[in-house]
Amino acid sequence: MVSLVQIETDARVQNPAYRPTTFLLKLNSSNMKTLKLILIIPLIFLLVFVGIILYDTLRARYLFDVNSFNSKNYSEESIAFFSDITFREGGRIRKWESDIRVELDSVSLQDSNCIVLTDQVISILTPLIKPLKIYRVKENGNLIIHANVDNTPINKGIGYTEVNHFNLFSESICKADVYTTKNSLSVLPHEMCHAIGLAHPENRYPFYNIMGINSFIIKEFFDDPSKINLSKYDLVLDTNDDFITFQKENIIPPQEREVIKMLYSEDIKVGLKKKYFLKKIRK
Ligand SMILES: [Zn+2]
Repeated sequence: MVSLVQIETDARVQNPAYRPTTFLLKLNSSNMKTLKLILIIPLIFLLVFVGIILYDTLRARYLFDVNSFNSKNYSEESIAFFSDITFREGGRIRKWESDIRVELDSVSLQDSNCIVLTDQVISILTPLIKPLKIYRVKENGNLIIHANVDNTPINKGIGYTEVNHFNLFSESICKADVYTTKNSLSVLPHEMCHAIGLAHPENRYPFYNIMGINSFIIKEFFDDPSKINLSKYDLVLDTNDDFITFQKENIIPPQEREVIKMLYSEDIKVGLKKKYFLKKIRK
């Protein structure tokens, strides 16, 4: 009986180029492994990419209740202002999803004006961010006020707010640090609004708002007030005392209060993209 080994030996003698079948198969399988790896890696990347797009698209519907939002009958001006100052990093909504515990650092606690102003901002925000709560704490705060600093951490401006970066799993705000420099306490409400999720507007508005740029004209500083050339953005006040009273009464003005209420409503959820919001709202 002729064995398989013998046939192999004979074939090798007759043809020096002969290679056993098993060796060829091994070589092929190694090539196949490399080929599979080359194909599998981009396939995994493609699947992850498609998965993210699909997840993002499906999630967008959950993040914005357009019917409920429309039923509130917000004015066009309010919606425009909202879309201008609430979409932040990555063009997405960021806000708190847990109670806000405001803590004043040791320097801020020595400034009675800072304590009063912080408490005023807290009392204005309280009804706007329901059911979340905002209150002052002595320790373990998640929104820390650093008033009267020499310089902000970025070394420019009179105020600065830093919030936690968002990641793949959550865009919510859970930690904020608010800084105001010496003699610039008036910027505190603006910074606290950053800390709860507002951004600077890209546009100017014909109403007073603390996140953007406003022009004040105080008549008593002009020799002939009738010659003042007014634009629709100018706010006119008779005296400097009126100006101070106005600012005190508008720590957070009505339009921004409405935007904060819209932001913290159930209709809008953390992570909502501006592009999706505008597309749905214009339908
Ligand atoms: Zn700012």
